[in-house]
Amino acid sequence: MSVRTRFAPSPTGYLHVGGARTALFSWLYARKHGGKFVLRIEDTDLERSTQESVNAILEGMTWLNLEYDEGPFYQTHHFERYNEIIGELMDKGLAYRCNCSKERLDELREQQMANKQKPRYDGHCRNREVSADEPHVIRFRNPTEGEVVVDDLIRGRVVFSNSELDDLIIRRSDGSPTYNLTVIVDDTDMGITHVIRGDDHLNNTPRQINMMEALGLPVPKYAHVPMILGDDGARLSKRHGAVSVMQYLKDGYLPEALLNYLVRLGWSHGDQEIFSVDEMIQLFDLDGINKAPASFNTDKLRWLNAHYIRESDPKRIAHLLSPHLGDLDIDPAEGPELVAVVEAQRERADTLVELAAISAFYYRDFDDYDPKAAKRGLKAAALEPLRAVRVTLAEIEDWQRPAIKEAMDATVSVLDIGFGKLGQPLRVAVTGGNPSPDLDLTLALVGKEATLRRIDRAIDYIQASLAEEPA
Ligand code: GLU
Repeated sequence: MSVRTRFAPSPTGYLHVGGARTALFSWLYARKHGGKFVLRIEDTDLERSTQESVNAILEGMTWLNLEYDEGPFYQTHHFERYNEIIGELMDKGLAYRCNCSKERLDELREQQMANKQKPRYDGHCRNREVSADEPHVIRFRNPTEGEVVVDDLIRGRVVFSNSELDDLIIRRSDGSPTYNLTVIVDDTDMGITHVIRGDDHLNNTPRQINMMEALGLPVPKYAHVPMILGDDGARLSKRHGAVSVMQYLKDGYLPEALLNYLVRLGWSHGDQEIFSVDEMIQLFDLDGINKAPASFNTDKLRWLNAHYIRESDPKRIAHLLSPHLGDLDIDPAEGPELVAVVEAQRERADTLVELAAISAFYYRDFDDYDPKAAKRGLKAAALEPLRAVRVTLAEIEDWQRPAIKEAMDATVSVLDIGFGKLGQPLRVAVTGGNPSPDLDLTLALVGKEATLRRIDRAIDYIQASLAEEPA
């Protein structure tokens, strides 16, 4: 039987990190086994589901390249089918109408709580004849005895006693089907072989198995993925920073870095940290998923992102960097070749946002010097080397690295000073204190005109600060 997995988000918000990881695991499992990955939008909660959330989920999956083979299927398009199955359950005596009032149920609940019992429906309407004409819900007649065993592919054997489960509502009084019913119908109709989902659904699984068994449907295999905690041990939430997948795009992360991070979040393969998507597909297995919750670690995600920024094709990085420069009002067409800037700077940034920030000086004069760099570099002793190098640099006709290097070497040799005495102030003068590569390369990229202008500015700056100093 070929593997079929699904991702079944409820469109009540953006695609968050936990959802993306569940989707990734399901996708990888299907890819690894040459199966199919289905996307199903569980939009039956009409009040909370929005088209905006559907779009956000699709956008997130597209960015992460988690392409689905079938779907998106919308549960709201399948109401007829759900009602057909509810009808079948009714016909077979496996479900019944219940007209218990809210007051009765509230009272029951209070009593059970007072007696320290788990609140559950008491089966009041199980053997009563409730007319279809009066307001009612439909409940599944859950077995009252025996056990349900979930042979979970991650958690192992989890046993639930039927006496703990009550007769759950499968159709609300407004006629709409509920989650557990729609899931078993769709998982069956879509031929899902492996349900890989968050372990917040583990308690639903015995109910779903009971319904499938009652209907004589094949029960899929289940794998419940442990949740993700923030660095502080609490369940991952907005408080821990960006939890929407698309926020990572805005924050300058590469999709392959986030995927690599997500796959390692709760799954491991020896000590290996770096996985290309092909490797993930090859090596992924449910056996490698840890039973304990995983902790989100932003430093590690940054580390992976830095790795992929360094290792990717610089042309692609340049392409992805452009919009971040745009956010700084920089048009990379007006300045040095962006690919060359990427090659020069990419080892110095963890994110594309940082890469844009430390590369802005190649395209426009910086506003202010970094105070520490200015204090170290722009002192009285720097005046002479800066003035001298300005003269030699100004003479260069072909503004290329070798000529720039020669001009700087000539300056230090004439002044008989160590290179640092020129290099340090010149670097601050031209970059403002931003991280930068070899000085000749930096100057070559900044351009002659801007270099000379910035040397003049640094000379003025030093003179002004000397004038301010008390005599
Ligand atoms: N729609 C459910 C959710 O978003 C997932 C259901 C499932 O995977 O069975 O939590």
